[in-house]
Amino acid sequence: MRKSRSSSPVRKSKREPILVEAPAETIEIHEIDRPPVLEQVVRDYAYPNTSIVVRLDYRATSALLDQVGMAGSLQHLCAALGQANPELGRQLVERFTPVQLAWLLRALTIYDQNAGKLTELGVDLSTVVRRLLRMVRRNVLTQPGTAGNGFENEVVLCGGWMQASLCATPLKAEPEVLRTLNTLYFPGGLPGRRQVIGALHPELLRTGLEKALTTVLDQQLSPWDPPPGERLERVDFTEMAKIADFLQEFICTVLAPFPLSYADGPLYGAPYSGCLASSEEVPVDNDRLLGWMWNRGTRVGRDPAYEAPMTAANYHPGRPADQEALGRIYAELLSDAEFARKVTKLINHTPQHAAADGMTYLLPCYPNPAVQSRVNCRWRMTRTMIHEFMHRITHPDVVAAAEHVHQPQILKEGFVEVFTALVLRRLSERAANDPETRNLILGPGTPWAPAPDAYLKVGYGQDGLDAQQIADALGRGNVAIGYFLGDLKRLAIMEPQ
Ligand SMILES: [Zn+2]
Repeated sequence: MRKSRSSSPVRKSKREPILVEAPAETIEIHEIDRPPVLEQVVRDYAYPNTSIVVRLDYRATSALLDQVGMAGSLQHLCAALGQANPELGRQLVERFTPVQLAWLLRALTIYDQNAGKLTELGVDLSTVVRRLLRMVRRNVLTQPGTAGNGFENEVVLCGGWMQASLCATPLKAEPEVLRTLNTLYFPGGLPGRRQVIGALHPELLRTGLEKALTTVLDQQLSPWDPPPGERLERVDFTEMAKIADFLQEFICTVLAPFPLSYADGPLYGAPYSGCLASSEEVPVDNDRLLGWMWNRGTRVGRDPAYEAPMTAANYHPGRPADQEALGRIYAELLSDAEFARKVTKLINHTPQHAAADGMTYLLPCYPNPAVQSRVNCRWRMTRTMIHEFMHRITHPDVVAAAEHVHQPQILKEGFVEVFTALVLRRLSERAANDPETRNLILGPGTPWAPAPDAYLKVGYGQDGLDAQQIADALGRGNVAIGYFLGDLKRLAIMEPQ
């Protein structure tokens, strides 16, 4: 069923011609239902700071509209872009509103008119149609004629042109530099080469990790005991949802054009606000407990602040016998009921991103105000939402590549932190000067307080520092292409592993 025009949630810009399907013979009688008028001026649009030049030429589509109407024109364009379904044009006209169809007709025209350049970049044109249709179904569309070439930019991003163009830019890095950076992923030595870590001291590893992880548990649990006789204040998830959608847009702007270039990614699916839940809802089974141990153990293992128990015990992350010994230590620690109870409680008070369902789990309540001030807590929650959002938009090939290196947390958490710290610095600058942003982030009427310095720095210990080293050496743009678009060599990941 076609939706009625009046119920369309898409705002029409004033310059938007009204596209309707009308029998040809009524066109001249009813001026209001005139056929769509597409721009007749041909122009080349150069997307800023890229090598992309978009030829905008709607003349052929205009002629087509006069001859075969909307359904016929869509059918023709989709077929030219590799779609075989002979009913597609008619189905689209039945399903979508005139405003949606106007967007789609122009977007298809852009890809059709520039098909040669796209094929050169290796773009599969039938994939483009699928992406554009996904965009139309999502129905958050920038209308043609929007200031700043907003429509053209959107089409270049969501159809996959930008992605192909970015991945085709040469990586100007010496092979020797890449090889050296690659060794960061193998701190004990590259596979098949001389190993630089001596024999493991299992007992030292056990005692060191027990001490470090107990410290982490006690430190991180302390904010979750309420003041005597009181309860902790619950977090308002309606407010978090507003912050989430603001952050999604802010992150895409600060890191433009990289996150939105991933045309098949989650940014073209449900909004961030639709994927939030409370960390209290995370079911904690044995796998989850062990997962926490591996994550936190790796986090503290090389950190001098926790006496770097893995370094001290000669733990080699790529040596199977060491991994087995570590697994036994974690299982043994968890066999202590009190230790396992603490880990369970902390998991339910730790923000996390679940790759399986795409959900982000946020803290259910504010910490004890005697342990952390409200304003610092708001900055921390904001930082967390940025960090978890980075997990959400990490390219799946990066997550998969982490399985093939010895120090996977550089890929999983280090780069997340590089981008999180950058975004938070920009957000802090903006909130300092913009009351609206400040009220949103810190809570209405809260006096200005900058984010604590520690939050503006790359976290996750050595894994964060290693990722920052790679970003400094290869450039943020390259690392962003690697991280958001899955071009792994730009993260100093070598083939074959
Ligand atoms: Zn994380």
